[in-house]
Amino acid sequence: MSELVSKEYKPKVRLQIGEGYRFVNGVVNNYKLNTVCEEANCPNIYECWNRGTATIMILGDVCTRACGFCAVKTGKPTWNDPLEPFRTAMAVKKMKLKHVVITSVDRDDIKNDFGASIWEKTIREIHKYVPDCTVEVLTPDFRGDKSLLKKVFNAKPEIFSHNVECVERISKVVRTQADWKRSLNVLRYSSDHGLLTKTGIMVGLGETFDEVIKTMEEVHDVGVSIFTIGQYLQPTKDHLKVKSYITEDIFDQYKNIGIEIGFDIVESGPLVRSSYHADEQARLAIK
Ligand code: SF4
Repeated sequence: MSELVSKEYKPKVRLQIGEGYRFVNGVVNNYKLNTVCEEANCPNIYECWNRGTATIMILGDVCTRACGFCAVKTGKPTWNDPLEPFRTAMAVKKMKLKHVVITSVDRDDIKNDFGASIWEKTIREIHKYVPDCTVEVLTPDFRGDKSLLKKVFNAKPEIFSHNVECVERISKVVRTQADWKRSLNVLRYSSDHGLLTKTGIMVGLGETFDEVIKTMEEVHDVGVSIFTIGQYLQPTKDHLKVKSYITEDIFDQYKNIGIEIGFDIVESGPLVRSSYHADEQARLAIK
């Protein structure tokens, strides 16, 4: 593995606030919404917002889990906002989006629901008020509860996404409160339900090349058709350290192997995140 990795190589981030960025920022603030772009310190925020897209994060900005890679605040959420689904739909309309990605914090504190009802309502409100916009959801695992997942599925998102985040061997360190196999089952259940299903991982966390290939095979076997791979970047010194910076050549190899495995789309590159260029993927994938 070591010869595949460059210690000097680091992804380059373009910092530029343009007209599009200002517009998206204004909409997000006016509708009192959170975005994962800001909360997770996403390196693509200038590119995506200047393109007029953002990933809206529902159910508040405090997560009940504390994954080792994630910059989103963690603690006891107090957020409860039944009008957020409507405001989200209005923001999507204002932004004239043709495809939107919605994600959320984990809400293990909401008894017997974990936020699934708000998820369902958000998808339905967007479809109702912005019927020409396709909806991609990047959801938590709802602790694997099939009835809650079904609630989300029945709202008919055009793409259902849930990230396994990393290869299975290191999963307990990367996502202490999650379970890799449970995430795999969430993806299986989505695909069995007939939904276009997507997942993604970060690399540079100590995985091997072969483990990445095995992960691609396993998620493809349960019905995933869109796969994303990006470089992990340490958001603060308190988060997991980067073990390696993966070269662009290796990202290209992952992409080519992923296509051979049978995915419809593989987005692979240092700055790739789950929602990076999601609108372009949706245009290709949604029939
Ligand atoms: S890649 Fe996703 S999270 Fe990052 S800025 Fe773009 S839309 Fe936001």
